[in-house]
Amino acid sequence: MDFSHIPGHKETIDHLIRSVKEGRVSHAQLLTGPEGCGSLALALAYAKYVSCENRSETDSCGTCKSCVKYEKMIHPDLHFVFPVTKNKKESEPVSDSYIEEWREFVKCSPYFTINNWLDSIEVGNAQGLIFASEAGEIIKKLNLKSFESDFKIMVIWLPEKMHLATANKLLKLIEEPPEKTLFLLVSDEPDKVIPTLVSRCQLIRIPVFTDSEIDAYLIKTYNCSKEKAQEISKVANGNIIRASELHEHEDSSLQNLEKFKKLMRFAWKRDIISVISWSEEIAGTGREAQKNFISYSLRLLRENLMLSLDQLKNDLVFLSGEEASFSKNFHPFINQENIGQLTDEFNIAYSHVEANGNAKIIFLDLGLKVTKLIR
Ligand SMILES: [Zn+2]
Repeated sequence: MDFSHIPGHKETIDHLIRSVKEGRVSHAQLLTGPEGCGSLALALAYAKYVSCENRSETDSCGTCKSCVKYEKMIHPDLHFVFPVTKNKKESEPVSDSYIEEWREFVKCSPYFTINNWLDSIEVGNAQGLIFASEAGEIIKKLNLKSFESDFKIMVIWLPEKMHLATANKLLKLIEEPPEKTLFLLVSDEPDKVIPTLVSRCQLIRIPVFTDSEIDAYLIKTYNCSKEKAQEISKVANGNIIRASELHEHEDSSLQNLEKFKKLMRFAWKRDIISVISWSEEIAGTGREAQKNFISYSLRLLRENLMLSLDQLKNDLVFLSGEEASFSKNFHPFINQENIGQLTDEFNIAYSHVEANGNAKIIFLDLGLKVTKLIR
């Protein structure tokens, strides 16, 4: 991961590079921003840059011994801590129990959620945690002399998932750090990290990506059309993970439209029995498909509001042929009175799906709320 691979965040990158150039790399840094802002990618590019033997003004060289090992994520002075789950063999596994899987996963893309990671190691609905057993591992690794670099670097992804005992041990290490050690904590929810730990770290706040940065990323990564990229980035709200998911599920647009139409028709008719069977049908699909449907619905609601607000500004509305013909009759039902609550309900359902809630309950609840709000 190089800085040049990150589609944006120029200011943050400049700041990180300057700290290396001026020799004032703070030994504990917390990179944080909303999900999908690319914080892990920045931490990886930064770690690589710090260790590079021949770095330029703007990036790692990519060819020195250190860079080559960083690319494969096998540099002996690069350590990882991340949430894992209990398995058949171990009741308290440590990160290294999953290090091979982790390397392969991160090499594919540094943009993912904890659920993406846990799904990849096939743990069902188990919670991802950094267990108490990890504390011993961290101490062991940092007591080693650095092998090849000036710095030992420990990237800690999602310290909010860390057992309190481990967090306290880490705190001690950060207070009295072993020589030439750099801690890079990467958090989506810093308010869930113990405050004493947060206060010992230099905070690096990372904003969401802009729509045009997301566009550029989608076009480069998936070779998709500009129109398609813009359609997605409007929905993704600067979240690069969501943008990729939306792109990968592009083919399901028509299915999502069908599900949306059904829900709205049943809601309008106050047909509760059908709303129930609708919710069971959605609950029977996978979590990614459910999230994808919700994202899709949010976009369609927003576009229909645009249609309702001002027929003349139709150029603001991005709809495919099928969507447009449905929306022609549907848009009068979406207005300033109900859009706020409708959007809230879909967003709540999204976060409940993410948190592994009971899908039947989530979608029945959503269906009933929509029944109240439509008309
Ligand atoms: Zn290099």
